[in-house]
Amino acid sequence: MIVARSIEEVRRAVVGARGEGRRVGFAPTMGALHDGHLALVEASKRSCGFSVVSIFVNPTQFASPSGAAAYPRDEERDAALLEGAGTDLVWLPDAAQVYPPEFATWVTVDERLTGVLCGAPERRGPDHFRGVTTIVAKLFNVVEPDAAFFGRKDAQQALIVQRMARDLDFPIEIELVPTVREADGLALSSRNAGLSGDERKRAAAIYAGLSKAEELAAEGATDATTLVEAVGAELRRAGLEPEYVEVRHADDLTAASTTGERPILLAVAVMVGDTRLIDNVLIGGDDR
Ligand code: AMP
Repeated sequence: MIVARSIEEVRRAVVGARGEGRRVGFAPTMGALHDGHLALVEASKRSCGFSVVSIFVNPTQFASPSGAAAYPRDEERDAALLEGAGTDLVWLPDAAQVYPPEFATWVTVDERLTGVLCGAPERRGPDHFRGVTTIVAKLFNVVEPDAAFFGRKDAQQALIVQRMARDLDFPIEIELVPTVREADGLALSSRNAGLSGDERKRAAAIYAGLSKAEELAAEGATDATTLVEAVGAELRRAGLEPEYVEVRHADDLTAASTTGERPILLAVAVMVGDTRLIDNVLIGGDDR
């Protein structure tokens, strides 16, 4: 596995791989890797002969420098996991090279997508996604992959990246990977490490609620409030108060009052102690 730090090293390695006729797959991450990230690498390896992973805790998507500073980091462990998964190149960008002095250019996707759910002004705000799309665009411009892999766990982020790639003509296939979960359904997340034993147990209510809603939908419930209420009830049983539980059309994130015609996203965010967790399920769509 090649360990690259500079943009030049990455470009050289990718040009070499492409010269050998290998398709280039790319999965951007912020490190503190788990099996959810490794599922992206597996998907990348299934369709590409050269798999690239970046690890970069992107400061521009955090509300404050302290948020980025507190994010868990373990370069050595991450590199070992990636090597074990068959990654060909890991890129650990140098923040000073990514964001040089006088950095002044941003990629923004319309607030119809970035100003709802997690991007609502009273939550993380649309600037969070401006940070995401700016770094993803920059990483795409360096790696120039044929395909890039994103997790459905962050469904809003995945949709925003797909829209950016389409609108700005990035010649990159954006592939979405199903959410990897613990045995009790909790979505794997680097943030789960921040949960106490008791919080970890209560966090299982998030997916329990989403599953209950899926069941109701399968039995014929079409009213969005019924689904939202099913999730809310599970959360409250575990002593959790959601930041939001919302039903939105999966392709454009407009609010949905009923399910049926179009695939819908049932999305939830909840503070469990000091840890903010998100999860979602797709109802009436093909999430494979
Ligand atoms: P992060 O390191 O949290 O920025 O995540 C990097 C990528 O991994 C994103 O595309 C996430 O959606 C994806 N990811 C994170 N957790 C999971 C999971 N449990 N299952 C599948 N993909 C995930």
